[in-house]
Amino acid sequence: MRPILKSNKLDDVCYEIRGPAMDLARKMEDDGHKIIKLNIGNLATFGFDPPDEIVRDMIRNMPNAAGYTDSKGLFAPRKSIVHYTQQKGITGVTVDDVYLGNGASELIVMAMQGLLNNGDEVLVPAPDYPLWTAAVSLAGGAPVHYVCDEQADWMPDIEDMKRKITPNTRAIVVINPNNPTGALYPRELLLEILELARQHQLIVYADEIYDKVLYDGAQHVSLASLADDVLCITLNGLSKNYRSCGYRAGWMVVSGEKKHAKDYIEGLNMLASMRLCANVPGQFAIQTALGGYQSIADLVAPNGRLTRQRDLAHKMLTEIPGVSCVKPKAALYMFPRLDPKVYPIADDQQFICELLAEEKVLLVQGTGFNWIAPDHFRLVFLPNTDDLGEACGRLARFLDGYRRR
Ligand code: PLP
Repeated sequence: MRPILKSNKLDDVCYEIRGPAMDLARKMEDDGHKIIKLNIGNLATFGFDPPDEIVRDMIRNMPNAAGYTDSKGLFAPRKSIVHYTQQKGITGVTVDDVYLGNGASELIVMAMQGLLNNGDEVLVPAPDYPLWTAAVSLAGGAPVHYVCDEQADWMPDIEDMKRKITPNTRAIVVINPNNPTGALYPRELLLEILELARQHQLIVYADEIYDKVLYDGAQHVSLASLADDVLCITLNGLSKNYRSCGYRAGWMVVSGEKKHAKDYIEGLNMLASMRLCANVPGQFAIQTALGGYQSIADLVAPNGRLTRQRDLAHKMLTEIPGVSCVKPKAALYMFPRLDPKVYPIADDQQFICELLAEEKVLLVQGTGFNWIAPDHFRLVFLPNTDDLGEACGRLARFLDGYRRR
């Protein structure tokens, strides 16, 4: 029999957050091992329940959620997103500019499919949330990574961005707050990125899905609020801010210089129509979420659960010899560095699998986020302080053994 091969379109597509280490973890669990998972930002599985109001309203709306909706989504949740953009200072957005999706993920893929021809380049951060790189590749584009500078608290290196712009560059992706680094970008930096976009006529994709997960009283500035003469596509959703990844409720807002983007917008409309509509219970949840009490504030308050977990993980990690880590200002992750002189790691995926096999702690290797060297990993600080402390203790023990090899 002829082997059934996957499409060539997938040749350059990688998504390692759910990669080989996760398969190994599944096997170990089947064999009865209990694993501490610090690999995925799935809040509900760590006892962070979605707000009751959202769940109640979804149940109440369920009888009305059985039909398809307009392919961009129901009017009321889209209107609530328009209001949200107004609160964030993004001007000129109408209901027509808002697309609902099955999570931001679906819309990221759609946005890239609608834009790119073979060889078109998109500037994506390194490290990145790897769906962006994968979505560019799947659409036939070439992801070009600009470096975020660990020495500068993981801020994008604007000079590197500039160097990497070519006549084929179509867009810049900005993930703010950032996964995996936890960085939060100041207004001045966002303005510099917009200036580059203006000069080179690039679209800016602003992935702002963690815009309410902010520590130490920090404020988030929406990139699209800083320019109305650049085409900005802002992505957001309920997964993180409202602890409801499983409801698959996300949105995309087109703002700024729309006049010259009619053709692209037609393409987006066609792609939205082809998938008929986003799941309707999730659409109903958006309306309630944006209008309701913003309970994430309690979790990120000075003594809130997420803040305490961030502080514990950061303290324990940075006490390990040869480990350094920029303290996250936002989101759910940290991206520590393992000094290569102390830990000469050649293959960080193997390193993560060894840690898993020996200590039953699951992390994700830095190269899974398109980081340039095998010297980082991402840690999700969602488990409660007991489990998190236990996991960091086991990691310290594993690294102690690694140093003595
Ligand atoms: N963007 C970033 C930066 C993320 O970290 C994630 C999920 O972890 C997503 C987008 C996808 O979110 P959704 O659940 O809305 O598809």
